[in-house]
Amino acid sequence: MSRARIQITGIVQGVGFRPFIYQLAIGSRLCGFVANNSSGVEIEVEGDEEKIEDFIGEIKSNPPPLARITSITVDFIPLNSDSSFVIKESIVQEERTALISPDIAICSDCLRELFDPSDRRYGYPFINCTNCGPRYTIIKDIPYDRKFTSMDSFKMCPACQREYEDPSNRRFHAQPNACWECGPRVFLVDGKGNELVGVDPVKETISLLKKGAVIAIKGLGGFHLAVDATNDEAVLALRRRKLREEKPLAIMSADCRKAEEFAVIEPEERGLLESPQHPIVLVRKREGNRISPYVAPRNPCFGLLLPYTPLHHLILQGDFLALVMTSGNLSEEPICIYNKEALERLAGIADYFLLHNRDIYLRTDDSVVRLVERKPLMVRRSRGYVPQPILLPMELKQVLACGAEAKNTICLTKGNRAFLSQHIGELENLESLSFFEESIAHLTRILQIEPELIAYDLHPDYLSTKYALSCQGKRLYGVQHHHAHIASCLAENRVEDSVLGIALDGSGYGLDGKIWGGEVLVADLRRTRRVGHFRYIPLPGGAAAVREPWRMALSYLYAAYGAEYTDLKLSLLSRIPERTRQIIVKMIQQEINSPLTSSCGRLFDAVAALVGLRDYIRFEGQAAMELEATISSEEEGYYPISLEQEGELTIFSPLPMIRRIVEDINKGELPGVISAKFHNSLVQLFADFCLKLREETGMEKVAFSGGVFQNMYLLTHLTSRLEQLGFQVYTHSQIPPNDGGLALGQAVIASYGADK
Ligand SMILES: [Zn+2]
Ligand SMILES: [Zn+2]
Ligand SMILES: [Zn+2]
Repeated sequence: MSRARIQITGIVQGVGFRPFIYQLAIGSRLCGFVANNSSGVEIEVEGDEEKIEDFIGEIKSNPPPLARITSITVDFIPLNSDSSFVIKESIVQEERTALISPDIAICSDCLRELFDPSDRRYGYPFINCTNCGPRYTIIKDIPYDRKFTSMDSFKMCPACQREYEDPSNRRFHAQPNACWECGPRVFLVDGKGNELVGVDPVKETISLLKKGAVIAIKGLGGFHLAVDATNDEAVLALRRRKLREEKPLAIMSADCRKAEEFAVIEPEERGLLESPQHPIVLVRKREGNRISPYVAPRNPCFGLLLPYTPLHHLILQGDFLALVMTSGNLSEEPICIYNKEALERLAGIADYFLLHNRDIYLRTDDSVVRLVERKPLMVRRSRGYVPQPILLPMELKQVLACGAEAKNTICLTKGNRAFLSQHIGELENLESLSFFEESIAHLTRILQIEPELIAYDLHPDYLSTKYALSCQGKRLYGVQHHHAHIASCLAENRVEDSVLGIALDGSGYGLDGKIWGGEVLVADLRRTRRVGHFRYIPLPGGAAAVREPWRMALSYLYAAYGAEYTDLKLSLLSRIPERTRQIIVKMIQQEINSPLTSSCGRLFDAVAALVGLRDYIRFEGQAAMELEATISSEEEGYYPISLEQEGELTIFSPLPMIRRIVEDINKGELPGVISAKFHNSLVQLFADFCLKLREETGMEKVAFSGGVFQNMYLLTHLTSRLEQLGFQVYTHSQIPPNDGGLALGQAVIASYGADK
């Protein structure tokens, strides 16, 4: 006989952990108790020593699906001669260090009940249990208890209450537990907010969608705008009203079997689609599919997701091949969450609104993931993942990192945990700014973090920077954009050493006041030194040059050929009127509104415009995405990029490459071949430069970060080339390589740097 005290930390509260332990202990005939405490779950078990070992083994190998165990410590203590096993109420006041679970897609048990006519919750749109349902999005405060959630206003009926109190029931302490009798309900209203009475709201929604209506559907983390994805007119109407011209729209299909009709789904992609997180997964289009071509024009992929709430499942009973399910917002504004807000902000976009009366406290968009060589690459980390922490190899100060301007997220740290917020979005309007401030207030409260340090980007015009600088009485720490990118990659890979960091993105404020974006740094979590970058090139018109890739093409042509560029025979020059070009060249010559940039993203834009793919973009990264999509994968050639030494710095000049691209265009080479050679040139450049740096410094570790590393071709080819050369390569998987992951790097650097 032995007695063990077992302390478990991680996400172990509010995820069915205590009933799981209870049943495991009863099954193993062990006595003792289980209870929540300030750092997780505490267990004492008494019985046969072998059985205790098996019991611990089972906890480790088979925990409840939503639990994330970060540590288990076991101490053997004197016997207490208990006669039974019980779930104790919390021994001490539950402190707020216990972690909160993300929102989780409906589980298979609940799904079975949803469609079982004999079940008392048959067809109930809010069915859930300890293993599934809303969490993060309905929490007002902690501890995670019904009275601190938006379920507070619904009093459980006796049947629900019995389930809630029964440790052997799978709804034991399921805070959002509800049924037809006592829980939230859905209702359908027209564009003016008048309820359609006497109809079944779900059936009516299905029939309206079939007729081509645009319907705003209140979901888990916010509203979606839905239309039948096979109906061209409906998809076009949605695009027109939402002011979303070409950016791909996510689509939801009932299950993978159905989705296979229009997409090719690899086993790993299926695993992700069906995971408890249920993110949007980028999957390859199947040829000749029946989805409207306006869903994802000129894109080889669909953003696919499977239904994750009971309401989604009920709507998809309408036998749709797929529904467009795009965030309920006007372009670039935060997603709507309140009924009244949706009726106002989505007026004129949605024809009808499928509403419900359970409030959403924190807006949370769908996450977006892509698989690269069978490993997930996060494009947007939000619902299903947040607020699960990134576990770091070191203890940090309590820091608030304010993130970037684009794809903003914030990060809070405590101990060895970094909490990256959900996607907040483009911090360029008042709505986004207030969402940003709300998220900071909410997260600091539920995580009980009081930041002693505030980290921010050096860009003086970012709203996130202005917010940081306005915080009174806090220590502030500015972090260079690309250092933060590399540090975010190091942090998630738990690397504390110094590495060669390749940071490629659209733009980030540089230490010399110029716009950086094609950088090689020697960096660790404290310091950084810039060792190489693309040659500076004027960005004629600033932001306009980002929206109009032809301007970058012209800027490169002018840099490579001077005034003689007009003699070139290029279709680009005939597409852009001479008068317009002259104005741009004058701006470059006289340095009017033409900031200098070393951006790699802008180099992609220039090449995309040169080969005739795109002169104007409708959404960020569009030209680069289309350039990647055209690649002829068998082409192995590459162009020269020259290395020029400027003191300690190496400058990568793409001008020889630009001249060769012009020659290839004149030879009639296909855009796909030029695109492949362009991508290969970048692989060659960075491989050569890393070799040179290894000779000089002996460094063998390389980290990639920045939005350009969402480019699969570059990411996979550069990784395998460097690995062949014997480098250890670190890439992102838990957080996005784009600015959505930046705050993590800022937080870590600030925590270290502030010690100096
Ligand atoms: Zn469930
Ligand atoms: Zn009930
Ligand atoms: Zn960036």
